[in-house]
Amino acid sequence: MLGQMSHQPLLISYQLRFADRFHHNIEVISRTVEGPIDRSSWGQIAKRSRKLANALVALGVKPGDRVATLAWNTHRHLELYFAVSGLGAVLHTVNPRLPLDQLRYIVDHAEDSVLFFDNTFTKLAQYVASQQLEVRNFIAMTDTANLPADTHLPGLTDYESFIAPHSAEFEWPDFDENTASSLCYTSGTSGNPKGVLYSHRSTVLHSYAAAMVDSLGICASDVTLPVVPMFHVNAWGVPYAAAMVGSKLVLPGPGMDGKSLLELIDGEQVTSLLGVPTVWMGLLTHMKSVGYTMKGVRKVTIGGAACPPSMIEAFEKIHGARVIHAWGMTETSPIGTVNTMLPKHAALDDAGRMAVKRKQGRPLYGVDLRLVDDDHNAVPHDGETSGHLQIRGPWVASSYFRRDRDEAHDGEWFYTGDIATIDADSYMQITDRSKDVIKSGGEWISSIDLENAAMGCPGVAQAAAIGVAHPKWQERPLLIVVRHPDSDVTAAEVQAYLTAKLAKWWLPDAVEFIEALPLGATGKVLKRQLRERFAGYVLPT
Ligand code: ADP
Repeated sequence: MLGQMSHQPLLISYQLRFADRFHHNIEVISRTVEGPIDRSSWGQIAKRSRKLANALVALGVKPGDRVATLAWNTHRHLELYFAVSGLGAVLHTVNPRLPLDQLRYIVDHAEDSVLFFDNTFTKLAQYVASQQLEVRNFIAMTDTANLPADTHLPGLTDYESFIAPHSAEFEWPDFDENTASSLCYTSGTSGNPKGVLYSHRSTVLHSYAAAMVDSLGICASDVTLPVVPMFHVNAWGVPYAAAMVGSKLVLPGPGMDGKSLLELIDGEQVTSLLGVPTVWMGLLTHMKSVGYTMKGVRKVTIGGAACPPSMIEAFEKIHGARVIHAWGMTETSPIGTVNTMLPKHAALDDAGRMAVKRKQGRPLYGVDLRLVDDDHNAVPHDGETSGHLQIRGPWVASSYFRRDRDEAHDGEWFYTGDIATIDADSYMQITDRSKDVIKSGGEWISSIDLENAAMGCPGVAQAAAIGVAHPKWQERPLLIVVRHPDSDVTAAEVQAYLTAKLAKWWLPDAVEFIEALPLGATGKVLKRQLRERFAGYVLPT
């Protein structure tokens, strides 16, 4: 017997319609690329999205067409999120930090027909135009006064002129909720990037998950500032969840540095921040240098890479914010696990709390996790035994866009490429990317644990551990450190600090100092480049 409930499909356009009707006057603030702050509202965003949808249809954009963006987090990008998907086309958010050959590859692979770009990325747009791909129209996400000159881009117009002549009436169409809504390519640390094609259904379900209290808790009582870029896994789904719950949204535009972020946090009374550790490193360093203590920020969500305990401590002890440590991937929309505490943890002392908080957290309802060994056998959830982490669920990719070969799936389970443990309370802890783990004499050393420990050492700003070939042990750890600007911490001091924190056989055989760690397109340390740079490194005997 079937239930007798409405068949209303789970579509992104309903989120915007809802925001327009019930959160009409809630603000959406955006730092523009031109400079000034734009003050809008969910009602305005909905109206301009309808004009944009009419403009796109007039341009010939049809359901299923791919529309690309090369853009920061701004109100115009937000309108594209809703208008492109809402009319049934697919929003392809291109990461502007990709190397040119990969940028070319994905615009070609996605068969993008229109490219919207911020003025910052005019050169990248010109590069795309020079490659004779399928892109027919280029639209600069600015106004007439700031339209870049002499670009020779085909069909170039500015965003404001593009939408201005069109009606603010648009009937968002209903269609199958499994229709593709957006496309995001993984950063492709090896080989070509792979496309993850989200659907309306997966996006809407993920929005509910993002808003849950035991998740990111996106809510109407927060002023939410997603620093995580809208070109990276749909800014972790924050724009959709914010529309659904009616959160005031503050978008940082190109200002991702500590000073610009602090201006917005302070000026707009932001209460909830979301971003990757490298961004928070910049903000914390800036706040320290100007002697500023945050007062209004309640939550800082940190994900995308391991969050060092020293960072959790700085936000919680100095700035009075609660850190929410989360884990996910492009392929998982991205939220997979979130670290929130259980009642029994209230009695823990600082060290006990930190031992829990540093873990990546518990799975959200909707996803299922398991650990397997090299032979696909299940590994116990005892907090000790590590295995390959697999995930499944309605917002996990079932395959990659236009790619026949699929080495990432084991039936319905997706291989994350992470090595993890899961404890008896179901807290998952990543010990490493499988390709980064350091194999010493048949045992594994977690590069993440080593780095986290090193980042607690006074004078150490950033640290990365890699395995270096060793005649007896196969590999031994080399620790690569970036000092704080005002520090002259030595290798011996780092070693002495770590000796008190780690098992003896985990201690790095050597410590090297460099000016800056190489970062990839999503702000993560490029271990591969470090391994290349230190290939043939001779460890002291
Ligand atoms: P990429 O395009 O670089 O794969 P993703 O955002 O998809 O970008 O990267 C996902 C990977 O990032 C995960 O598989 C994991 O290795 C790492 N990661 C994400 N969040 C965390 C976290 N909280 N702690 C440790 N690693 C994380």
